[in-house]
Amino acid sequence: MHEYALAVDIIENVLSVADQNQARYVNSITLGLGKLTHVNCDQMQFCLETLIIDTIAREADLIFNEIYPNMECECGFSEKGGYFCASDASMNDIRAFFDQSCPVCGKVLHASGGRDLVIQSIDIEQ
Ligand SMILES: [Zn+2]
Repeated sequence: MHEYALAVDIIENVLSVADQNQARYVNSITLGLGKLTHVNCDQMQFCLETLIIDTIAREADLIFNEIYPNMECECGFSEKGGYFCASDASMNDIRAFFDQSCPVCGKVLHASGGRDLVIQSIDIEQ
């Protein structure tokens, strides 16, 4: 499972940072989840919860921020990924979004960003 492997990496990172900072507990873990990562949020949460059970992060709040891509054109047009951003946007909506052409010059738009899963912050108790 894709999500499980990613979750293992995340928790290893979190615990190693917590350890370097002599943390007694991890209060919260904030993750930035790119809309184009194909990561299932519920599955990711389940994997993380399973992995932290026996760790100092067992009480941590898991916070997800969705990161949307910007749409850009070589003519300089750029649009913040705002308007398909319903959190329940289906892959069909997203595909339709990518088929759009630039409203200024008519060329195909390119997505930038939104492809990463990153740890944005970790809150610890020392
Ligand atoms: Zn353009």
